[in-house]
Amino acid sequence: MAELNLDDAVVTTRLDAIINWGRKNSMWPLPFGTACCAIEFMSMMSSKYDFSRFGAEALRFSPRQSDLLLVLGTITNKQAPVLRQIYAQMAEPKWVISVGVCASSGGMYRTYATLQGIDRVVPVDVYVPGCPPRPETMIYGAMKLQEKITAEALKARKDHIQAFYDSMDRQRDLEAEQGLTAHQAVRSMVLEAGQTGAQRIW
Ligand code: SF4
Repeated sequence: MAELNLDDAVVTTRLDAIINWGRKNSMWPLPFGTACCAIEFMSMMSSKYDFSRFGAEALRFSPRQSDLLLVLGTITNKQAPVLRQIYAQMAEPKWVISVGVCASSGGMYRTYATLQGIDRVVPVDVYVPGCPPRPETMIYGAMKLQEKITAEALKARKDHIQAFYDSMDRQRDLEAEQGLTAHQAVRSMVLEAGQTGAQRIW
C-alpha cells in the first residue's frame, strides 16, 4: 500500500489560536467621542494613518454592530450609565480602548462631575496615554490590543464580560429596590467601591 504523504496538505493549530487570529484582524470600532480626542480618532481613520490596515475599517455607530469600543474624551458621572449601556449592547466578544488621559483618569478634570477613569464602570483592555494622543499612539494601542487578543483564552474573555453583566444586574436591582435612576445607581455603586478600595464596580 502506498504511503500517504500529507506534508503541506494538513495544517494543525489550536482552536483558540485560529479564532483569536480572526478576532484580532476584524475589529469593528465604535467611537464614543465626547471631546478633542475624537478629532485625533478622525485622523487615525483617515487615509494618512489608515486604521483599515488592521482590519478595523468597518466603523459603526450602532453598538450591536461593533465589538471595539473606543472612548475618546471626558466622561461625566451622568454619562457613566450611558457608557455602560452601550458596552452592554455591543456584540460579543468585545474590547475597550481608553484613549487619552480624560477617559483613563479624568485627566485635569478633578471635579465632582467627572468620572475619574472609565475603568470604574466598564472593563478597559488598553489605555492610551496623552492629551491628546497622536494617531500613531492610538494605533500602537490597537496593536497592543491585538497582542492581547492573540494570547487570550476564549473562556477568559467570556468570564471577563460576564463580570460586567453581573454588575449590570446589581445596578438594575438597586434601581428597582431603591427607586433610583440609572445615574444614581451607578454613582452609588462607584462611591461604595471607592470606600471599599475596590474602585471599580464590575
Ligand atoms: S485627553 Fe486631552 S485631548 Fe483628549 S479629550 Fe482630554 S483634554 Fe481633550
